[in-house]
Amino acid sequence: MTTTETAVSKKEQLKGKTLSELKEWFLANSEPSFRGEQVFNWMYNHLAEDYSEMLNISKDLRKKLDEKTILNTLRITDKKVSSSEGTVKLLLKTAQDNLIECVIIPEEKRCTLCISSQVGCPLDCKFCATGIMGYKRNLTPGEIFDQYAIAQRNYDRAISNIVYMGMGEPLLNFKNTVKSLEIFAEELTTGISLKKVTVSTAGIAPKIKELADTGLKPKLALSLHSCFEEIRSKIMPINDKYSLSETIKSVFYYAEKTGTRITFEYVMLKDINDRIEDADALVKLCRRIPSKVNIIPFNSLQHINPKGISAELIPTSKKEIEKFANYLRDKNITVMVRDTQGSDIAAACGQLAITQTA
Ligand code: SAH
Repeated sequence: MTTTETAVSKKEQLKGKTLSELKEWFLANSEPSFRGEQVFNWMYNHLAEDYSEMLNISKDLRKKLDEKTILNTLRITDKKVSSSEGTVKLLLKTAQDNLIECVIIPEEKRCTLCISSQVGCPLDCKFCATGIMGYKRNLTPGEIFDQYAIAQRNYDRAISNIVYMGMGEPLLNFKNTVKSLEIFAEELTTGISLKKVTVSTAGIAPKIKELADTGLKPKLALSLHSCFEEIRSKIMPINDKYSLSETIKSVFYYAEKTGTRITFEYVMLKDINDRIEDADALVKLCRRIPSKVNIIPFNSLQHINPKGISAELIPTSKKEIEKFANYLRDKNITVMVRDTQGSDIAAACGQLAITQTA
C-alpha cells in the first residue's frame, strides 16, 4: 500500500451508512441527529459529489466532514458505449485501486443498471468471465451504492431498475448487500424502490432464507441453468456445497415469505441444458412455484481465452433458443429471452472481467 492509500483508508466512509447509523454518527460527533437525515438526503437523493453542495449544512461542519470522512468511494476510469443499443459500461476504481464494472442498459420503457457486489467472484461458474478472473474482496455498502450514484450522475435518463448481476455473488457479501438494500428501501430515498431491485444469486441456500427474513423483499433471481444436480455441479461448483434441491427449498421459502415471483435465469448451452428433458424439468419446477424464466443467450468468453470446460462451452443457436422458449410458452410458463445487449463492448452477462491489472 502506498502512503496516499493509507491516508485515504483512515478516513471514514459516510456513504453506505443507513439512516439510523447516520443519525447515530452525528450524535456521537456532538451534532444533532437531524444532520444525519440531511446528509442522507444529499448522499442518496441528490447524489452529491462534494460536501460543498450540502447547502443547508454550516460551512464549519462541511469542513469538518471533509477532513474526517470520504464522500466518494469510486471514480470513473473508463466509459464504453455500445454502438448498437446504447449500453454503457463504466469501469470504476476504488480508493485502493481495485477495478470494478457496472453497466447501464437502456430499454424503451425502463433503464436498468447492473451493479457489482464484489471485486471479482469466488464461485468459478464455468460459463462466467468474472469467475475466471478470481476473487479479490467484498465491496462496501458505500461502494455498492456509489455505482448507482456515479451511473445516474453520468447518464441523462433516470435509472429505473437495479440488478445485482454484475461482478460477484451478492449473497456471499451478505451484510453489505443488505445494507445497500436498506438504503434503497428507506422511505427517504426517492430514486429507486425495492420493487425495482433484483438480487441475483447462484444459490447460497441459507442466505436466501436469511434475505427473506430481513423483510426487505427485493426481487430474487436464481441462476438456475440446469434442473439436474449432476449437470449443474459440472458448470457451477457451488452446487456441490448447496445442492439444487436445498437451494430450491430456500427459493420456495423466499417466494412464500415475500410474496414475490422468482426469476429463474437460464444460460443456454448447446447439448448441456437445451435438450427436451431440460425443458420438461424446467416446466415441472415452474409449475411448483410463482416464477418466470429468463433465458440468456450464452455470451462467448473468447475475449479472455478460457481453459478447460469453459473453452468447450458453445452457445445454443438463436433458432434453437426460440424453439426451447416456445416449448415452455406452450406449457403456459412465462418466458423472456434476453437480448445480448452490449456484447460488442464486453458488457453483456458474464463478460465482466477486467483485463487491465488492478
Ligand atoms: N453471482 C450472481 C450474479 C452475477 S451473474 C449469480 O450467479 O446470479 C448474473 C447472471 O449472468 C447470472 O445468471 C449468470 O449465470 C449469467 N452469466 C454469467 N456468465 C454468462 C455468460 N457468459 N453468458 C450469459 N450469461 C452469463
